[in-house]
Amino acid sequence: MKKLNKNFGKLSEEYLFAEVAKRVAAYKVEFPQSDVISLGVGDVTQPLSSKVADAGREAATEMSTRVGFHGYGPYDGYPFLKNAIVDYYKLRNIKIDLDEVFVTEGAKDGIGNILDLFDENDVVMIPDPVYPAYVDANVMAGRKIVYAEGSRENGFLPMPPQKGKVDIIYLCSPNNPTGTAYTVEQLKAWVAFALDNEAVILYDAAYEAFVDESKTGADIEPSKRIARSIFEVAGARDCAVEICSFSKMAGFTGVRCGWTVIPMISPLNRMWLRRQAIKSNGISYIVQRMAESALRGGYDDIKRTIKQYRANAQLITSVFDRLGIQYKGGVDAPYVWFWCGIDSWEFFDYMLKKARLICTPGSGFGKSGNGWIRLTAFNTPNKTLEAMDRFEPFWKDFVEVKSKLFTILK
Ligand SMILES: *Cc1c(COP(=O)(O)O)cnc(C)c1O
Repeated sequence: MKKLNKNFGKLSEEYLFAEVAKRVAAYKVEFPQSDVISLGVGDVTQPLSSKVADAGREAATEMSTRVGFHGYGPYDGYPFLKNAIVDYYKLRNIKIDLDEVFVTEGAKDGIGNILDLFDENDVVMIPDPVYPAYVDANVMAGRKIVYAEGSRENGFLPMPPQKGKVDIIYLCSPNNPTGTAYTVEQLKAWVAFALDNEAVILYDAAYEAFVDESKTGADIEPSKRIARSIFEVAGARDCAVEICSFSKMAGFTGVRCGWTVIPMISPLNRMWLRRQAIKSNGISYIVQRMAESALRGGYDDIKRTIKQYRANAQLITSVFDRLGIQYKGGVDAPYVWFWCGIDSWEFFDYMLKKARLICTPGSGFGKSGNGWIRLTAFNTPNKTLEAMDRFEPFWKDFVEVKSKLFTILK
């Protein structure tokens, strides 16, 4: 008789975004006329660059010709895209070899699939709060998880513990949900910790393109410089893998494409190639041409869209500054993370009812997130403006009634 993977039973019941959708649907049944605005979803809203779309169209046409047709492509991606990725790193003075780049379906696939390369008894360290896929993928595989806890005190940038043995370390910077990002100096400590433990760092850089450019570059000292890649840190090539995505950077959440960088010095490089050859037949030629365009001809369009999201974040934080709200993020990532001071889900329900605004409860990203709320800048400028026009009076009222209606958190 078949035996099922028992670890499925250990996954937490509540899948964050499903629970948000459920509560919003129930609200809409009760108030069908209500004009709800979502500042909740971690998905892009702006259309693709027209240059990127043109590249896809041209590739599709090419595929309809006898000479331009492509069947199965290389497991690790076409050289034209891998070269564009190598050049993208070169812009930041990071040297990556072609053999170190692997084109993937996206960062989430990379995050989960790379676990095929590790022993089931490896201990995993995961920041809390963070993107939920790291925890779930490891629970499913039955691994032991320890947490690096974010807090007000460490600015939601947890540093390595003094002691403790771990084998696999996930880092997410700029962070989803907190919008915070490590400096090169802070990452040095993580690299030293990984080397000490002979551990691997799986570095999720899905939001690297959002980092404020004035805080990057070799002329800025490491204690002030925000890292866009783990490979800005000396020694990282001996212990780190970088996982990246076109999703948030170029609006590819529905197109699907990402990449993984694994230094040649690591045995993981050839293992990953083998793994991909066994379980995947590569990414669509058309999509890879679109991704290439995102890093080449369409890159200026992409930067423009990111700037627009950044302006939305600034709009949110300027209202928060005026209201004296405690927050993080909004500069190097499209997320603003603020302290509501009550149970995150209670706040979610209350704001939905009173202001018709949807947020994401911080507790959904880990227990250290309770009392915090994530708002996203992935919206149109008009919707963001309208949302904040509602938020301001709502918050003033909330502050008045908070201690009467809710249990206050410290
Ligand atoms: C959105 C997101 C991803 C998913 O990226 P895809 O390439 O769309 O799979 C990965 N990591 C983080 C932190 C994200 O927020």
